[in-house]
Amino acid sequence: MNDPQTSAGALSCADDYDPNSMPVDKAREVIARFLSPVTAHERLHVRASLGRVLAADVISPLDVPAHDNSAMDGYAVRHADLKADGDATLKVAGSAFAGAPYEGRLEGGQAVRIMTGGVVPEGADTIVMQEHVKVNGDRVTIGPGHRKNQNLRRAGEDLRAGGVAVARGRRLRPADVGLIASLGIPEVTVYRKLRVAFFSTGDELVSIGTQPKTGQIYDSNRYTIHAMLERLGCEVLDMGVVRDDPALLERAFTDAAQAADVVVTSGGVSVGEADFVKVLLNKLGEVVFWKIAMKPGRPLAYGRIHGAHFFGLPGNPVSVMVTFYQFVRDALLALSGQSPVEALPTFKVPCTSSLKKAPGRTEFQRGILSRDAAGAWTVRVTGEQGSGILRSMSEANCFIILPTDQGNVAPGTLVEVQVMEGVV
Ligand code: AMP
Ligand code: MG
Repeated sequence: MNDPQTSAGALSCADDYDPNSMPVDKAREVIARFLSPVTAHERLHVRASLGRVLAADVISPLDVPAHDNSAMDGYAVRHADLKADGDATLKVAGSAFAGAPYEGRLEGGQAVRIMTGGVVPEGADTIVMQEHVKVNGDRVTIGPGHRKNQNLRRAGEDLRAGGVAVARGRRLRPADVGLIASLGIPEVTVYRKLRVAFFSTGDELVSIGTQPKTGQIYDSNRYTIHAMLERLGCEVLDMGVVRDDPALLERAFTDAAQAADVVVTSGGVSVGEADFVKVLLNKLGEVVFWKIAMKPGRPLAYGRIHGAHFFGLPGNPVSVMVTFYQFVRDALLALSGQSPVEALPTFKVPCTSSLKKAPGRTEFQRGILSRDAAGAWTVRVTGEQGSGILRSMSEANCFIILPTDQGNVAPGTLVEVQVMEGVV
């Protein structure tokens, strides 16, 4: 990983691009180059580890399964006792249930009643499922056609003792938590949570609980940013609203960078406002200001302030969310130690709406994925697409991603969608 000092220096040299028309992919690439994940870690009980990132491989202390066991309800037998072309009759010597093994060895001419998960008795090498067995008192009759070793699950087949059960970098999901518990491991080593400080900028903003005067609006970005950060498992530091005042902003940027690994702000990076923020940020650290070739979410500032990673998002409420999903999400996951980081999944479905789109930049329209009467997935657009219309994000469950060269879209066309519901 990059050293924070040298990577900041390198940022200004990464200028083989046009900051006034920065392609979405190129911006992601530049950001990805400068991410230095947290390294500090802590021990946690496995029950408290959901959503945390493993800082060390979880090594299996045992073979899984621990013993050869049956994959079926049936009878454990010796294959040599079965006949290739006729019936064999064996004596039932006992039973092997899950948790209650057959004590002893299976001798020639014997069978043991066995249930799924039951330990295969010593001497047995084949399981015959119960549907293929005729039972008559303590005798069973088995026909031909059984393979040696059939219906057996071998010790160590899932995991070998000493092998990696869950790898470092995994953000733990319910299945991982269960797998770790299945190995009898009570504690795991995880990275400490990523600390993210955020604030809103703008003279027009009031916090909820205060009556807005004419021309003032409620600060909503702090709430969407807070919610998105919570979903990503970050430790969040809400620093409130900061006025468009150089001295107050300098104080806020400095405090945020000292308190956190990452600073996220909204507003103040658009043309007109950017100039004094630019001067200020370049005094405090190293920051690039991009006009991304995308809609919505054009202005984006990225860099470092006093060693903290910095994302200056646009002010418009939809732009904030789109840029967060498209640039900040993956970066925060990587910074929190997750590896690999997969981008949000995309796939193609028919679009039932007609979409207005001018070639020249990538658009992230807000869409609603749903099933049609025949059960097939289609997408439609959520009405007006203005970057201030937060309701369009609230109603959407996906982005419709229209690539740079794409023009208008006629109904019925296949479009690329990216799901967001339940992910951030
Ligand atoms: P800016 O990028 O600061 O010029 O803001 C662009 C637009 O987004 C303006 O209309 C702002 O009023 C609006 N805006 C900025 N910050 C917020 C916020 N925290 N909550 C809601 N709207 C905002
Ligand atoms: Mg502003």
